Amino acid sequence: MTVLLIAFLLAVSIGCAFYGARLPVWTVASALGICLFAASGQIPWPATVLVSLVFLAIAVPLNYLPWRRRYISGPFLERFGQMVPSLSETEQVALDAGTVGWEGELFAGQPDWKKLQAIPHPELTSDEQAFLDGPVEELCGMLHQWDITHRDADLDPQTWEFLKRRKFFGMIIPKEYGGLGFSALAHRAVLQKVSSISSVAGSQVAVPNSLGPAELLVHYGTAEQKSWYLPRLARGEEIPCFALTGPTAGSDATSIPDYGVVCRGDYKGQSVLGIRLTFDKRYITLAPVATLIGLAFRMHDPDGLLGEKKDLGISLALVPRDTRGVEIGQRHMPLNVPFQNGPIRGKDVFVPLDALIGGVEMAGHGWRMLVELLSVGRAISLPASATGGAKLASLATGAYARIRKQFNTPIGRFEGVEAALARIAGNTYAISALSRMTATAVDLGEKPAIPSAIAKYHATERGREVIIDAMDIHGGKGVILGPRNYLGRAWQGMPIWITVEGANILTRSMMIFGQGAIRCHPFILKELEALKLPDEGQRIRRFDELLFGHIGYSLRNATRSLVLGLSFGKFAAVPNDRRTAKYYQKLSRYSASLAFVSDIAMLMLGSKLKQKEHLSARLGDVLSQLYICSAMLKRFESSGRPAADQAILAWAFHDCIHKIQTALQRVVDNFPQPFLRGVLRLVIFPMGYIERAPGDRLTHKVAQLLLAPSETRSRLTQGIYTSARAGHPVGTMEEALPAVIAAEPLERKLLKALKAGEISGLDWEQQLHDAIAKAVVTPAEAAMLTSVREKTMEIIAVDAFDADEFRLGRRPERSLQNQQAA
Ligand SMILES: Cc1cc2nc3c(=O)[nH]c(=O)nc-3n(C[C@H](O)[C@H](O)[C@H](O)COP(=O)(O)OP(=O)(O)OC[C@H]3O[C@@H](n4cnc5c(N)ncnc54)[C@H](O)[C@@H]3O)c2cc1C
Repeated sequence: MTVLLIAFLLAVSIGCAFYGARLPVWTVASALGICLFAASGQIPWPATVLVSLVFLAIAVPLNYLPWRRRYISGPFLERFGQMVPSLSETEQVALDAGTVGWEGELFAGQPDWKKLQAIPHPELTSDEQAFLDGPVEELCGMLHQWDITHRDADLDPQTWEFLKRRKFFGMIIPKEYGGLGFSALAHRAVLQKVSSISSVAGSQVAVPNSLGPAELLVHYGTAEQKSWYLPRLARGEEIPCFALTGPTAGSDATSIPDYGVVCRGDYKGQSVLGIRLTFDKRYITLAPVATLIGLAFRMHDPDGLLGEKKDLGISLALVPRDTRGVEIGQRHMPLNVPFQNGPIRGKDVFVPLDALIGGVEMAGHGWRMLVELLSVGRAISLPASATGGAKLASLATGAYARIRKQFNTPIGRFEGVEAALARIAGNTYAISALSRMTATAVDLGEKPAIPSAIAKYHATERGREVIIDAMDIHGGKGVILGPRNYLGRAWQGMPIWITVEGANILTRSMMIFGQGAIRCHPFILKELEALKLPDEGQRIRRFDELLFGHIGYSLRNATRSLVLGLSFGKFAAVPNDRRTAKYYQKLSRYSASLAFVSDIAMLMLGSKLKQKEHLSARLGDVLSQLYICSAMLKRFESSGRPAADQAILAWAFHDCIHKIQTALQRVVDNFPQPFLRGVLRLVIFPMGYIERAPGDRLTHKVAQLLLAPSETRSRLTQGIYTSARAGHPVGTMEEALPAVIAAEPLERKLLKALKAGEISGLDWEQQLHDAIAKAVVTPAEAAMLTSVREKTMEIIAVDAFDADEFRLGRRPERSLQNQQAA
């Protein structure tokens, strides 16, 4: 009975911890248990006394608040200030700038799946759909990748004109200012489709609709600025660019050396108060053709013309291109994806004070403005473009792997190729779900700072993996550039998307977990705020309340991680669906593990955690994969749980879970305090490393889904440009695919007859001729085989150029030399 009592108390403690019960509940339940066991008279009195004393020694100090505050919370409060990561002003701004959505649930260790299911799954409005089916389709029909990237190094003038006239640059500008006023979802759909045919056009449409003058004016502009600039931007009469980066400030953009000094100067013949700007910017998209420059600089007021503050901080201004002193027009060549991009310089460029976005009141608030809006733009542009590219690669590679045959077998049937095909399908499914979920978050009014960092990093990294696999499967067909090549430029351009809007190494190492840890944590921010309370008594009371909430939270997560690890997630509350319940159980388990290990890391490393980028990156990986899995499950649910999609979901899900296990394993194996590694391993992996990467059978099943038209394949690649217009190789392949598949039994018949010696011939034509003569195939069947053969030869063909024709492609160094000579 004594053992039973101890087991009972342990069970109460584990149960309370698992369900996050409050301290009084544990106290009352344990006390009642001891009383009942004692009353049964079955326990020797010394044992009852001993157990009661131990219980009282724990329960009394914890429940007696004055004692607890004096001897536990008070002393801990002193140390807390030194333990938590110190926040710089810019970090504080970044923290304040975003909101917390579903990622907060995942981070806190006990995701409420009902909340995920309750997130709406909006669709495009009829206007938005009409725009996609009309102007976007028309635009895609005008884009010829080879001409853009090789011959012209630009879009042609008709396309530029079309983009302006159909308001492609005004998607985010509200209708009242003449823009299209599109939702984030529609904005995403447009970029996805345009990027699937031309990344040059995609980026030139993306930039005016992302972080830049229009977005800044919509949110912070003065009434005059809005009514003057927004209609002009919507109509394409102004082409905007946004200039932040310079030679000595890239990822560390807060250290920009560019400056503006408040002074009086001449403006349109009058002496006015303004800013004299000196700047040196590079890599600025659209700069060579921009008419309106959004400029970030540090503002100084040495003569106190605006007030007492001399260093006002980062500020944003709108500088018209033709302002005296602005040097603009040169072009960079971003790999072989020649969208308009170049440097902008200026020395002593004078602009009046009303050039400041938002007016003088917003002077010095530039960093906050940028960070607030970056989370929105980053949630849409690059994830949408990566989705377009990945979908195109899935469709094209699947078709090509069926059409291209080796040893009379489609190459997509070889196991080695299957492995790459399955990766393409799984990654595309994941990227697409991720991109839709972050765009939806924006439409729901979130400023999704962490999901946008997750989406930017993982959509571009997975997109890169998709393109590499697609190139490998295409072999020489992917390598030889020319009008028939639909992959090479995407492969060449991948490092661009990895670098822009927060370079990926930095995003993974510092931003995803670094910000998530503080922003999503249910206690840390509140504890930091409690530290600042002026009244000591109030400070200790508040801190005590939070500290014990925090301890309960950590115990809950440790217990959940252990119990769910031991039970394979069985005790987690998850949606009751036979096919997906085990997925939700796994996510619940690893969410608890992440919350637990994050707390231990913060406790042990404090402010040093910021420098531990290995650790921070791996914890960020866990949060990211949990988020991607949630997005995929949401996608599966919202599309009506199609049974035919189950294999792709399963592949992508197990891939993510395996990555979670690897990341957590590395966290544990490299945890800076070696003595904690054993404890962490026990709590996180009580049954060892049980997750497996997707198996060969599943890989085979998923790969085959790409090789033939089906609803699953159409759903996976929905929303890209696939028209079979003349010269669009992917559309042509899609059109040919059903006939290629239909001809396969005839090809096998022909081959069998050849092997059996029934027909002969030195080449394919002769063999077919003989087959008709010997009635192995009918003339109609022969016509079908001939037609398919012609289409196949057309599809697998690559370009070859006459030497003169090849030289037509403009070479930047020659153009520059010519300019200089002129
Ligand atoms: C084609 C193109 C278009 C662009 N368009 C614009 C534009 O329109 N407007 C604009 O203002 N800017 C633009 N940029 C600039 C872009 O945002 C920067 O290139 C980016 O911020 C990285 O800066 P950087 O190239 O100087 O690299 P660096 O900052 O020098 O970084 C180099 C490497 O170090 C890593 N790194 C840096 N700090 C850390 C850290 N603390 N921890 C771990 N890793 C770290 C980075 O991840 C990166 O891998 C563009 C860039 C390109 C290439």
